[in-house]
Amino acid sequence: MQTRNSGRHRVIQFTLIELLVVIAIIAILASLLLPSLQQAKARAKSVLCVGNLKQHGYAVAMYLQEYDEYVVPHSPTDPGYHRWVKSLHPYIGVRETCICPTADPTKVWTDGTLWTFGGVFGGYGIAYDLCHVQLSGMKPRKLKSITQPDKTMILFDIDLAAGMYSEGSGFLTWGGWDRISYRHMARPILLYVDSHVAGHSSRTKLIADIQGGAVLVKP
Ligand SMILES: [Zn+2]
Repeated sequence: MQTRNSGRHRVIQFTLIELLVVIAIIAILASLLLPSLQQAKARAKSVLCVGNLKQHGYAVAMYLQEYDEYVVPHSPTDPGYHRWVKSLHPYIGVRETCICPTADPTKVWTDGTLWTFGGVFGGYGIAYDLCHVQLSGMKPRKLKSITQPDKTMILFDIDLAAGMYSEGSGFLTWGGWDRISYRHMARPILLYVDSHVAGHSSRTKLIADIQGGAVLVKP
């Protein structure tokens, strides 16, 4: 470091080597901090997603109460009525809540507005076996037919495969199990029929036991 007097001011000048050393130190610090920043960002997204699914849980509970304990229905063949998004969104009210923080909101398909429900999907899928009805007018199953609501999943992060933003196969969980996404720090986040949300450890072996249309989760 060199100093020289310039009139009343004392000017400090760095040599090229000193500048290179400073740049190298900044680069090392950045490389050390970046992974932990990325991890913090991933953790924040995971927390937001749990919050979203909890809101969906309240919506499921309110729907059950209002509809005489019939489970929210879904039918891919009935665009006008039996779509779970259409049934639950009035109880949620905020568009962002319906979109997983890992999903790209610009790719979320909508036919102009979320609330017209031409088919909207923000990264969440429904347990198809549990909620499927063939046509409008058909009644979905009742809550009392689900023997273990605390172990029966209803909504979750769905696989971010191609087509997930549309009404295609990615919209549903055909079979109820194989499309669960582990995208939040390798953990599956599931909403259960009793409205609790659990982020299971990736080390936990989840076993789907499909009994009478309900997908039971057995950690
Ligand atoms: Zn998510």
